[in-house]
Amino acid sequence: MISDQERVEVWNSINEEVESIVVKALSYGLIRDVLAERMNQISNIFAVFKPLMRGSQFTFDTIWRSSQKKFSMQDVKVFLWFPEDDQLHMNVVEIRKLLRYGLYHGGLDTIVLNGKSDETARFMAFCFIHELGHALIAKKEGRRLTPYIPTPEESLAEEVEMKTFDYKLLLAIGGPEYIAESEKMTDALIRYRTCKEKTLPLLEGKGLALDYCFGPVKSDRAKKERDFLFWFSCECAAADQTLSPELAQKEKYKLLAPFHHATREKA
Ligand SMILES: [Zn+2]
Repeated sequence: MISDQERVEVWNSINEEVESIVVKALSYGLIRDVLAERMNQISNIFAVFKPLMRGSQFTFDTIWRSSQKKFSMQDVKVFLWFPEDDQLHMNVVEIRKLLRYGLYHGGLDTIVLNGKSDETARFMAFCFIHELGHALIAKKEGRRLTPYIPTPEESLAEEVEMKTFDYKLLLAIGGPEYIAESEKMTDALIRYRTCKEKTLPLLEGKGLALDYCFGPVKSDRAKKERDFLFWFSCECAAADQTLSPELAQKEKYKLLAPFHHATREKA
C-alpha cells in the first residue's frame, strides 16, 4: 500500500507547481480573472483524501488540508488515487479505468487525480487547474452533489470553454519559446483552414513544444497526449484569431467533438 506520507508528497509536488503556475500566469492579463476565480475556490478549505475500507465500508480519510477550519461537503475535494488502491474496492477500479490524468465528478463534487501518471508534476498541476474550472461551472450551475449528468452537447461546450482557457494558460506559462512554437503552428493551421495550404501541418511530435510549459516527458503515450493538446490549443488560437466569437466557438465544437465523445468522462 501507499503510505499517507507518500500520498502527501505527491500532492505537495503538484501543489507547488500549481502555485508556480499561478504566479507565472497572473502577470498575463487575459486569464487573470478566470484564474483568480478558480484559485479563490481553494483558498478557504480544500482537502485531499485517500480511499480506505473501514470494516466492510468503502470510505475516505483526509490526508491534507489547506485550512484548519472544519471541513464541509461544499468545499473542494481531491482524491489522489494510485494503482495500489485498486485492491480496496470495485469503485476504485471502475473510476481509475476512466482516469488518465484527472477528472471532475459532479455527483461527488470531487476532483480525482492520478497519483501515478506518466506526466510531470507541472502537467498534473495544469490538469488540476483545468478540473477546478469544471468544479466552478458545476457550482455556478447548482450541479454540485446532484445526480445531474450534462448532455453530450453541454459537456462538449463546457470542455471547449475549459480548453480555450487552457491554451491561454499555456501561452502564459510557456515563455517566449513556447509562444514562438505555438504561433508557428497556429499560422500553419490558419493557412490550412483558409485553404491557402492543401495539407494539414504535420502534428506528430509537435507536442514537444509543451516541454517549455511542463518539462520533458518519457512515455510515448504521454507524448501523443501532448501532440493532441498542442494541436487543439493551436486550433483554438487560430479560430479566435480569424473568426467571430460565435463562429470560433462552432469551429472548436466541430474539431473537438470526434475526440470528446470518447473521452468526455476523462477530462
Ligand atoms: Zn475537461
